[in-house]
Amino acid sequence: MSQTRQNRTPQWHWEQDASLRFSHIDERPAVAAQFAAAYRGKHWTEMQAANLDEADWLHHLAQLAAHQPFFHFELELPRTLENRLWVTLSGVPVFDEGGTFRGYRGVGKDISAQRAAEETLSALALQAPLGALDRRHNARIERELGLALTAQQFCLYYQPIVTLQRQVIGYEALLRWKHPQLGLLGPDQFIDVAEHSGLIVPMGAWVLASACQQLAAFQTAPPFADCTIAVNLSARQLAQPDLVDSIRQILHSTGAPASRLKLEITESMLVTDIEKTILTLRDITALGIRLSLDDFGTGYSSLSYLKKLPLSQLKIDQSFVRELLTDPVDAAIVKTILQLAKSLGMSVIAEGVELDGQYKVLTDMGCREFQGYLFGKPQAFV
Ligand code: C2E
Ligand code: MG
Ligand code: MG
Repeated sequence: MSQTRQNRTPQWHWEQDASLRFSHIDERPAVAAQFAAAYRGKHWTEMQAANLDEADWLHHLAQLAAHQPFFHFELELPRTLENRLWVTLSGVPVFDEGGTFRGYRGVGKDISAQRAAEETLSALALQAPLGALDRRHNARIERELGLALTAQQFCLYYQPIVTLQRQVIGYEALLRWKHPQLGLLGPDQFIDVAEHSGLIVPMGAWVLASACQQLAAFQTAPPFADCTIAVNLSARQLAQPDLVDSIRQILHSTGAPASRLKLEITESMLVTDIEKTILTLRDITALGIRLSLDDFGTGYSSLSYLKKLPLSQLKIDQSFVRELLTDPVDAAIVKTILQLAKSLGMSVIAEGVELDGQYKVLTDMGCREFQGYLFGKPQAFV
């Protein structure tokens, strides 16, 4: 490309030299002088989707992360049945109150810029190679996760657990990350990265301390005094030699009653070094804390180990509850879990209950505790 470019709109006017550097930017009042200062001498970024390389993408994300206005980022979107379509992302990135990126406030009135105002990052994301995007996303998450704890960007949401009479008897604490640019992120978006990097250990300690503070606060609020709080443990946390000490210390410093705290583990944590895990779990229950086996039915649990583990509860995974009304196999599995728990002297929570029909069938099968959107979504305590 060797020709010069220029563009005129009611809002602004610019010209570029032969190498497409912004050579002139109009400083009429409608155009903020800072834009001119920021863009003079800069290049127009124009790339085909196929050519969207790491550096371009990271540059774009960095501009977004810095909430930096920019004018032209052009992308060729291949459309299978149509001609190729150019999309120009152009303008000022717009974020909502929660900090979530919502798109671009376009400058100019040409069709592509108009389009750009409607396009969101996800439109772009679709065009980047998925594997590479995942890697970039994970790298970003890992980088920023390290700072999130000190920046106090984590918070806990609490989802009610109810009885047959729909009375709330406890809550599960579920981690959320208030990411300054990406908005509120659920654990699916960062727990794996945290687990992989080891950051889950300090994060898990924060979750536990924070849930215990809530539990201590419950003690002075009569309707909540008997409520339990369940906290999810990660495999990495369970493998920490000082886990039991740190739990003891957190209970002590927050004043939370151990008898109201539940820890949730999953079957996958029982695969490695089961004998050592059993000892750790026994030490935990010796503190007066109860243990639940989360997502039960999705992993591998040998029945003989189930008997040896100091568990007081099984949580039926939501995947079985989801198909309960339509899939006789899932219904049979749920029934079997309920019978198994009964014979092992454990209680059962059915997870992911969304429909009255599911609640009724579970009730008929003998389930006595429930968790799911039917009774309440996870929410922050205010
Ligand atoms: P989980 O422990 O099995 O938590 C239940 C998940 O199911 C939660 O998702 C909850 O929001 C969702 N859920 C509850 N009821 C319903 C329903 O009726 N329908 C549907 N579709 N979903 C429902 P969330 O909060 O996204 O958490 C996902 C997972 O992330 C958790 O699954 C848990 O394994 C993990 N996690 C959450 N917080 C923590 C934490 O503090 N530490 C660790 N290590 N893991 C956590
Ligand atoms: Mg759980
Ligand atoms: Mg679960």
